[in-house]
Amino acid sequence: MTPNALDPDILRLPFYTDAHRDRARRLAQWCEEQAPLWTELRTDDPDKAVRRALAALGGAGWLDFLAAAEPGSDGDCRAVCLAREALAYAEDLADFAFSIQVLSATPILRHGSPEQRQRYLPGLAAGTLAGAFAVSEEQAGSDVAAVALTAERDGAQYVLNGAKAWIANGTVADVVCVIARTGEGPGPLGLTAFLVPGDTPGLRVREPIEAMAPRPFAHLVFEDCRVPADAVLGRPGRGFVVAMDLLERARVTVGAAALGFARRAADAAQAHVRRRAIYGGVLFDLPTVKFELADMEVQLNAASLLVGRAAWELDQGHRGFAKHSSIAKLHATEAAQRIVDRCVQLHGAAGLVAQSLPERLYRQVRALRVYEGASEVQQLTIAGALDARRAR
Ligand SMILES: Cc1cc2nc3c(=O)[nH]c(=O)nc-3n(C[C@H](O)[C@H](O)[C@H](O)COP(=O)(O)OP(=O)(O)OC[C@H]3O[C@@H](n4cnc5c(N)ncnc54)[C@H](O)[C@@H]3O)c2cc1C
Repeated sequence: MTPNALDPDILRLPFYTDAHRDRARRLAQWCEEQAPLWTELRTDDPDKAVRRALAALGGAGWLDFLAAAEPGSDGDCRAVCLAREALAYAEDLADFAFSIQVLSATPILRHGSPEQRQRYLPGLAAGTLAGAFAVSEEQAGSDVAAVALTAERDGAQYVLNGAKAWIANGTVADVVCVIARTGEGPGPLGLTAFLVPGDTPGLRVREPIEAMAPRPFAHLVFEDCRVPADAVLGRPGRGFVVAMDLLERARVTVGAAALGFARRAADAAQAHVRRRAIYGGVLFDLPTVKFELADMEVQLNAASLLVGRAAWELDQGHRGFAKHSSIAKLHATEAAQRIVDRCVQLHGAAGLVAQSLPERLYRQVRALRVYEGASEVQQLTIAGALDARRAR
């Protein structure tokens, strides 16, 4: 039996291996069993909620791949996408905790020295350390090359000064991967990635941000924040590459999370219209309502196929994956927004009640069209990758 969070018809496609299918089913089943925990998290403050979600995910072994000696299918893009799909279906904060942990561990996995990997990855995998990835600034959101936070070399140290904005896990992070300006070259050529422990003197939360879907989210300040030279992740001057490599990989997984939220909304809409008595029958009897549900199903299928293709391409090392990753994120997040909105509409007034499922999904899905490349940025990427030969 496949849990509701996943579509068995999609899962059986050759994009996925038996190992992917088995892990995804077990994770979705685990998510169902954790329902009481998810309910409790919604009343915790976001910092505590994320710590608890990380402890549960780490304790159950769902983050083990972050510290595995050999990369296996548990941590490939398809596995991460299926995990985000199942987690987002179950609970936004569970997906958030998982995804930010993967986001902050991936640069260490891909660019870290053996010492850096040994220092951080076991704790991130166990869920005992929380990570964050900080590239955005108030004046450098979509325009990553505009990063202004400086890191100046001073003997055997670097001194960081400046601010980061909108940082997920900013209030709880034990280690922050920071993209800073070191000036090896102009614009994107003058950036370097650093691993900064959360308790480093000079690093502080300027203010926590109360987001429409509660999450630990903050603006950070760095004032004469000193780190040793071995805090550099990768090589000096390669920070833009570290950030872009990460964001390109993460993009398709945002599409997968959108799919989880959207499938939950479509399931809730269908359950509601089948039992809502109206006009001597139920809402489902109305042809226009049937059309709505059919349209949701079409959109879910399209999003699943686009996410599956992009993730499969990334795992195979295909060059075209960046374009297809943008297509998957753009379509899945925009479709999820429409599906969640229609779910609210089909619930009528009941869908507008604070903390009802449709209302929660409505708030939770919105950020996905902005972070890790707004929809318009995806459109530019897609247009930029159009095959010029076809215009001849
Ligand atoms: C929930 C959430 C979590 C986040 N977590 C993190 C994090 O952990 N770490 C981190 O570093 N950052 C994080 N961010 C920041 C996020 O990456 C930025 O918000 C995003 O890059 C957009 O930047 P901005 O908000 O400055 O908007 P801007 O760059 O000012 O863009 C605003 C709008 O302008 C339009 N636009 C922008 N560029 C173009 C373009 N080229 N063409 C056409 N239209 C365009 C889009 O509609 C866009 O939404 C997070 C944001 C959110 C909402």
